[in-house]
Amino acid sequence: MQTLVTPASPEAIRQAGQLLRQGQIAAIPTETVYGIAADAQNGGAVGKIFAAKGRPQDNPLIAHIDSLAMLDGLAAPLPDPLAGQVQALAAAFWPGPLTVILPRGPAVADEVCAGLDTVAVRMPSHPVARAVIAACGRPLAAPSANRSGSPSPTTAADVLADMDGRLPLILDGGACEVGVESTVVTLVGAPTLLRPGFITREQLAAVLKTPVALSPAILEKLREGETARSPGMKYKHYAPRAEVTILQGGLEAFAAYAAAHGRPGDYCLCFAGEQASLPLPCVAYGRAGHPEEQARALFRALRALDEAGAVRAFARCPGQDGVGLAVYNRLLRAAAFRVVKL
Ligand code: AMP
Ligand code: MG
Repeated sequence: MQTLVTPASPEAIRQAGQLLRQGQIAAIPTETVYGIAADAQNGGAVGKIFAAKGRPQDNPLIAHIDSLAMLDGLAAPLPDPLAGQVQALAAAFWPGPLTVILPRGPAVADEVCAGLDTVAVRMPSHPVARAVIAACGRPLAAPSANRSGSPSPTTAADVLADMDGRLPLILDGGACEVGVESTVVTLVGAPTLLRPGFITREQLAAVLKTPVALSPAILEKLREGETARSPGMKYKHYAPRAEVTILQGGLEAFAAYAAAHGRPGDYCLCFAGEQASLPLPCVAYGRAGHPEEQARALFRALRALDEAGAVRAFARCPGQDGVGLAVYNRLLRAAAFRVVKL
């Protein structure tokens, strides 16, 4: 299959909408990361996403909508207080990088929900994503546009690197602003954060007027046989080929560790501006103390390590407050939970 990369012009958006209506897949930019879209009501089309990504069948997808009206049928009719909670979150954060898990309705393909009785829904803010949903006229299932396990793509070039020959069309909308995948919160049962993102746990709690629990899978490796409430969290994820180790501690201790343990082929995944203090070649991912900047830069930096041929990478440890929790959660998986306390 030939893969066409094209700027997201009105004509290209119309073409993408038509492809999607015909049951094809296409890569599109969103404000979080690039996604591979398919008609969420067409099981055959959704199956092509799993095939293109090599994604395990039991990992459900997020349905993307462009209006609250599109929620009808995707989700089951919502009882109180669930309806009020959804309204409050939608008013505060939609369109934007928040995914809500709800009881599923009939108007979504089984493949999207991967056998669960719930559905994940998000209304993106990226103008191209919204225009493609409108052009197709249906909710779009759209997981990140990477090969399963790799870092998510934040540019059209990164999508092409993973997906050349595996899908017909990539719409180029420039670099993604947020850079990490959406926050996922479930409202089925007590509100619980399943995946941290740009919308923080504190922001969710303030709008819901109730505490939001933290799924243990965000910061810990699941033990053998343990079930994940968000199936995506059980896989090794976001990982470059380089073996990443997070070093928890200050810059001086980090530099000393890198000097003592570094071998040819090793890199530092450091914060911007630290390169001159470090004894190994460096790739930076945003400034220390600026988690939004780190989120925007992290996946590109992980891919840059591979492009540089890094064998191992020692990573500076981000903070865990606010958006920092999302950065730490992704880096922890990229490092397969290898953390050294300095
Ligand atoms: P991605 O599509 O790569 O952004 O990943 C979607 C994330 O949402 C994965 O971690 C999924 O496991 C999670 N997810 C999607 N649908 C559900 C659902 N119904 N219940 C819980 N988690 C879900
Ligand atoms: Mg993904």
